Amino acid sequence: MTDDLYKLTIGELGGLLRSKEAKSVDILNSYIKRINELDPKILAYLYNDFDEAMKNAEAADKIIQSGKDFFPLTGIPLAIKDIFLIKGKKTTCASKILDNFISPYDSTVVKKLKDNNYVFLGKTNLDEFAMGSSTENSGYKITKNPYDLNRVPGGSSGGSAASVAADLCAGSFGTDTGGSVRQPAALCGVVGLKPTYGLISRYGIIAFSSSLDQAGVLVKDITDAAIMLDAVAGFDEKDQTTRRFKSKDYAGILKNMDKSLLKGFKVGMPVEFFSDGLDPEINSKILEIKDLLKDMGASIVDISLSDTKYSVAAYYIIATSEASSNLERYDGIRFGHRHKEEKGIQSLDDLYRKSRETGFGNEVKRRIILGTFALSAGYYDAYYKKASLVRKLIIKNYKDAFEKVDIIIGPTSPTPAFLIGEKTADPLSMYLSDIYTISVNLAYLPGLSMPIGIVKNPSKPDGVLPVGLQIISPWAAEDRLLSVAKIIEDEVKFRENAGFRKLDI
Ligand code: GLN
Repeated sequence: MTDDLYKLTIGELGGLLRSKEAKSVDILNSYIKRINELDPKILAYLYNDFDEAMKNAEAADKIIQSGKDFFPLTGIPLAIKDIFLIKGKKTTCASKILDNFISPYDSTVVKKLKDNNYVFLGKTNLDEFAMGSSTENSGYKITKNPYDLNRVPGGSSGGSAASVAADLCAGSFGTDTGGSVRQPAALCGVVGLKPTYGLISRYGIIAFSSSLDQAGVLVKDITDAAIMLDAVAGFDEKDQTTRRFKSKDYAGILKNMDKSLLKGFKVGMPVEFFSDGLDPEINSKILEIKDLLKDMGASIVDISLSDTKYSVAAYYIIATSEASSNLERYDGIRFGHRHKEEKGIQSLDDLYRKSRETGFGNEVKRRIILGTFALSAGYYDAYYKKASLVRKLIIKNYKDAFEKVDIIIGPTSPTPAFLIGEKTADPLSMYLSDIYTISVNLAYLPGLSMPIGIVKNPSKPDGVLPVGLQIISPWAAEDRLLSVAKIIEDEVKFRENAGFRKLDI
């Protein structure tokens, strides 16, 4: 079998497995070779487990050979952000405080993937505890953008996005609290889907901000997003925030989609998403899509999401408050890193303090301090409560907008991938990376980023950097979201265009 199976999408690989033109073991070998060759440059993975992967692939091949029906993810090698628990395997959340933590059970996402007989390739890098937009906050390594190794892949699911972009896996799972699936997808030129809050179980995903966290997928095309979502979506009694709505057959919906869907469709463009901070070249790429949709029969409606200008401020109160509470459990006693006892330790409090001081990185500490302050007696009304009220206004903005339009489009990120080190000294400018994605989490809505083209890389003569389009749909309307995305994908043909995928490797 050919060596370059790694290039294919999950849908294409599934076709080869079905027609018996390839075995899962062949597919895996192609990825192992690719990872050994390229990951030392990209640093997308925190660790690989090729022995486990080979066992998984052999088991999948047995099922396929037996002639029994099998799942679309059976025998497909996937990478998992190191925030999902996998029983018996290390989960660090890219934090030193979980340096030696072995997961005691499977997250629901991973349990479902195992039931599908997937192949586990390894754990991908992230910003520590998913706090960041560049993967520079990882306690272990900085993942590089495959389009330019001097640039960030975005974050916090930067390792997941880079691994898909560089074909180091067929698809990857990430999480998105304020943009962590969509923003790295945009910066790395891949598809990233953050579903409706509660569509995928959070059980066994290390908590950052529980009212915002949602698992998502990073993949090569829209069909793959539907396949991955089908495998993991649905109610879970272990996560009471999962929704009891019937999970749809998203891949089936895409297959039978009527391309004339856009006739009479109303596409909203929020004025707030096209303001000063937006890179002009990204702006013009989005406008090309607007014209495309118009040509296909949609009407474009200018809308206003007037309170989204407060979304970054509200998010950094809500997310840090919830984080300060969720991260209380890392005390050096029950989990992971415990400061080595030495003379300085006088009391249990000292041990907690020292373990946290040496275990957490700076950004995580900053957020714990901010969140603890925001929740402290006397300040609760002024901060957390006020931010929650702003959240309600943002929810209402979207509700009103979706009375006028069927779908919303805009940029995913205000800029293309930035240089490593460019924003580390200025947390505020880093926080603004998510200016267009955060309100979607605050409103519990589904959002997707897809690559729609490239811009010139200002620091490399022949280099290019990808541009992402964000699409936002009403609550639980992933079928509509994916359908519109698929129609755009079929026109833009990002993957087919070799000029778009000029990687720096
Ligand atoms: N960049 C945002 C933050 O640092 C979002 C992170 C995320 O979605 N996990 O909080």
